[in-house]
Amino acid sequence: MTGKVYLIGAGPGAADLITLRGARILAQADIIFYDALVQPDLLALAPQAQHVAVGKRCRQLSTDQRFINRALVEAAQRHGVVVRLKGGDATLFGRAQEEIAALRGAGIAYEIVPGITSALAASADLGISLTQRGVSRSVVFVTPRVGEGESASDWIKSVSAADTAVLYMASGQAAGIAASLMQHGLPGSTPVAYVSNASLPNMQKIVTTLSNLHEAAQNAGSPALIILGEVLRAYALGTSTQEIPEEISQLINIGKR
Ligand code: SAH
Repeated sequence: MTGKVYLIGAGPGAADLITLRGARILAQADIIFYDALVQPDLLALAPQAQHVAVGKRCRQLSTDQRFINRALVEAAQRHGVVVRLKGGDATLFGRAQEEIAALRGAGIAYEIVPGITSALAASADLGISLTQRGVSRSVVFVTPRVGEGESASDWIKSVSAADTAVLYMASGQAAGIAASLMQHGLPGSTPVAYVSNASLPNMQKIVTTLSNLHEAAQNAGSPALIILGEVLRAYALGTSTQEIPEEISQLINIGKR
């Protein structure tokens, strides 16, 4: 028997932000390989399936990618519906192409089911549009993170070239990131948002400036995204500082600089 592997985007966290298609396939799954960022509520959509955890958060030991690739191939040789469930969209910063290559190499059918990437959940939580007429005509999704053995990344160039930048896997190095960007000419007054646990009940959002990012990020949660750009001024304008805790409201001085 050879089954099919579905690479499904679980969405940013909230269980009702998976697509209907993703939910329908989960309900038919025989086995699910899921990442650490996938919320347990989603697995409840597939009580009939075998659930296999294959990822831990960064800085902890994670399942070897080659093991995952091999496990997907082997599962498809034993089951009809195999699901690879990844946070956000499965094809953004998730090593999906390596899994696809393994499946193709073994002649196994696969299908990608798109998901809502965390950047879009974060902009929704901020209540702003990542593009704005006359303000932002480009959005870049970028990570400063480089894997072992990879060449240095051009992430600073990408951030500088875009009107709006969303940085994935960057929150742990907020200080270094802000310093590098300012060193390369971004003004310290550039509006920045730090959004953790987007779409979830423990979501936290801090809007500040690049020069204050380090301070703002120190006590904030994870997983988190850093968003940069003029589009955030709309957030500052629409926000009453009264609903924001004192220590955070001090950081919100966008528009005054
Ligand atoms: N494929 C995922 C991204 C995987 S990389 C997607 O499309 O969203 C993991 C990074 O995604 C984290 O380091 C963090 O930067 C971001 N992330 C994932 N879920 C998040 C959430 N709910 N809130 C904020 N950031 C999140």
